[in-house]
Amino acid sequence: SIILAFDTSCDDTSCAILGEGKKSNIVISQNFVHEAYGGIMPEQAARTHFENIDQATKEALKQAQCNIKDIDFIAVTIGPGLLPSLLVGVSYAKGLAYRYHLPIIPINHIEGHIFANFIENDIDFPFIVLVVSGAHTHLFLVENFGKYKLLGKTLDDAVGEAFDKVARILGLGYPGGPIIDKLSKNGNPYSFRIPKGLSQKNTLNFSFSGVKTYVKNLVEKSKDLSKTFICDVAASFQKACVDVLCEKTLLALKKYKISRLVLAGGVSANSLLRQQMSQLATENNLNLYLPSISLCTDNALMIAKAAQFRMDLATFDFDLIDAKASLNLV
Ligand code: ATP
Ligand code: FE
Repeated sequence: SIILAFDTSCDDTSCAILGEGKKSNIVISQNFVHEAYGGIMPEQAARTHFENIDQATKEALKQAQCNIKDIDFIAVTIGPGLLPSLLVGVSYAKGLAYRYHLPIIPINHIEGHIFANFIENDIDFPFIVLVVSGAHTHLFLVENFGKYKLLGKTLDDAVGEAFDKVARILGLGYPGGPIIDKLSKNGNPYSFRIPKGLSQKNTLNFSFSGVKTYVKNLVEKSKDLSKTFICDVAASFQKACVDVLCEKTLLALKKYKISRLVLAGGVSANSLLRQQMSQLATENNLNLYLPSISLCTDNALMIAKAAQFRMDLATFDFDLIDAKASLNLV
């Protein structure tokens, strides 16, 4: 069967098609809309989704050489995310489903990020997944489709949020992750002793709120924000985050005696994280799975993929389908 999927959980309007040899993935980014604010304006994000979703759908159909009449299921992200943004995707999906008499498969966005890995690989269970994104820094043990155990999570900011906030403090623009990743290549990661939250402690939880205060103080104390200074701060900050992500992930793998590791979410696009995790995998004889860069950040293809595994959720009872800003995986 062929699935048409939507994700409008945050600031990217995405539509994808998957099944019977058809595949497309259209992402219309709103970064330019939010760059000026250094963060996302939820109402503005929703309006922009509304303006773009028709075009995203048309392009996804065209790219997959599909007609709307070929579609068998509609999948849509119902949460977690920004409520105004989620509502646009959910309403649009319901509208199409009514019009073409199609069942809807409601998908959890985080389940989408995890199953993005299955687009390019078949992965055996059980595995441990590190979900690192704009709102999540979570370690889960995945025993099967839909069977998750939470092992640890951030007690305050998510790591992606820390990248975005540090970028804002350094005056670098939005989203901060890719910019910091790039600038770090020209910086010395050992220039500053950025705090590594909860490092060397026997816990699988994370903490990233200390870093932004530390960087804020650094910037306030520094007289000139030279290019070298900014690159050094970026590199030191990135290294501190990656070190602690690797440390906790290894702790979890050892504690649960698991040798399959999966990365998911926008921050898994980070070049240093990919490099250090690959090294960790070699040293510890692990099977490591990383999504391609374009499948790390928000996209609807990962929602379509998750839907293939969650056909059990398909329903014509559209009243039961609601956008939910906070939605836990377990
Ligand atoms: P969630 O998935 O938790 O609901 P989200 O959908 O906003 O949140 P994603 O789209 O998965 O998050 O990821 C976006 C985050 O990833 C942003 O914080 C962004 O800065 C970060 N990010 C993207 N690329 C990189 C990179 N190369 N290095 C570090 N961070 C990155
Ligand atoms: Fe996301």
